[in-house]
Amino acid sequence: MTSTAYPVVSQLKRSFASSLTQRLAVPNDRSTGATFRIPPGKRSFIVKAVQSYKVPTEMPAIEAYPMNGGHGIYSYAKNSYHQGQAIHAVKELIKEEITEKLDITMFPSSDTFRIVDMGCSAGPNTFFAVQNVLEAVEKKYQGQGLDHCRLPEYQVFFNDHSSNDFNTLFTSLPPNRNYYVAGVPGSFHVRLFPEASLHIVISSYAIQWISHIPKELVDKSSPAWNKGRTYYAHAGVETIKAYADQFAKDMDNFLHFRALEVVPGGMVLLTIPGGRWDGDSDYQILPNTLHDLLESCIVDMAKKGIISEEKLDSFNVPQYFPSPQEMEAAVKRNGSFCIERIECLHDEKKQANPKEARAFSSHVRAGLEFLLSEHFGHEIMDELFDSFTRKIEENEVFDLGVAFKLLVVLKRNESLLIN
Ligand code: SAH
Repeated sequence: MTSTAYPVVSQLKRSFASSLTQRLAVPNDRSTGATFRIPPGKRSFIVKAVQSYKVPTEMPAIEAYPMNGGHGIYSYAKNSYHQGQAIHAVKELIKEEITEKLDITMFPSSDTFRIVDMGCSAGPNTFFAVQNVLEAVEKKYQGQGLDHCRLPEYQVFFNDHSSNDFNTLFTSLPPNRNYYVAGVPGSFHVRLFPEASLHIVISSYAIQWISHIPKELVDKSSPAWNKGRTYYAHAGVETIKAYADQFAKDMDNFLHFRALEVVPGGMVLLTIPGGRWDGDSDYQILPNTLHDLLESCIVDMAKKGIISEEKLDSFNVPQYFPSPQEMEAAVKRNGSFCIERIECLHDEKKQANPKEARAFSSHVRAGLEFLLSEHFGHEIMDELFDSFTRKIEENEVFDLGVAFKLLVVLKRNESLLIN
């Protein structure tokens, strides 16, 4: 629809713009440095103007790989128990960090308290993660002995790519929640919120998704070309470096934009899978082991001619599992946050058993099926995941590796200077 085809729309746009200009009566050249005093009666116009203001950002190349939506057998909603366990594992640590480190006296209690879950997907985990944070924050406000009417209201934003199944998410919202809800579609590698508008950002099992596959991984003339592989765990150093560099660039964007959006004193709490310490390369981390196995299934299919060699060579899983040191380095490069806690939690090694093998296979399918079927075709998915399940089941001595979780807790510096 163009505005020429709809004269009423363009007429409305013109009159809204002129009414806004007249009513605001503020200089439109910000470079004059004039102070903007907003008369109370004109605030709603400002709010509308700000809401429709498009933040100019340099858009990095971003690809979206949504989890399986709906409630079917391979849906993320039904296959995210493993990610839910991570939320459970860090629950008390997150509460402790908020209780000890969040200084709510910095935020007027009359302000709405705003929380966002970045990379929320469409399963129930996001509601548990949010509830956990809210309980800790509410307890802090209640501990101040404030009158009930002076306690803040809460607003929770659920963020994910626009291709995420937000319908499933919103139809399964907890009925007795004590917060207002809004969905925020878009990549967390770009600016998503107005300046200094968020008090707490959480993100669980999402930032390991890199924004896109670096082009050298599929460039035959590059030393980083990942021929015959779909992942970096056993690839050459150049390939690993290309993945690591992309993750570092993505983290730089993530932290840069969060530094703009989070209020001074606000917190960012990230839970990331993987997360071995640098130098502990002998550790078999669970995501690496699973990706290795999946890779071997894809390679088998290429050997059998079910998929072409070219298809195999041009596919790479867009995930990178950082070490705590890599996270520390990213926070230091950014300079707007203090690291309050960085902790590597690990489970016992898991022995594969038939029931668990199928569950792991379905978990991986819920997360990667969209990506894999876009590249290799939907018709091979059952065969691929049947062989993946069998590989986990059949290998009696195969152990699935250690399931590390990395918790990174950051606090926005009080100065608003952005690097
Ligand atoms: N936090 C949820 C979901 C984890 S699955 C849980 O713990 O269960 C990872 C989610 O991150 C997916 O829904 C994926 O679409 C989302 N995601 C990946 N990259 C993203 C990006 N750049 N911006 C927003 N969401 C992203």
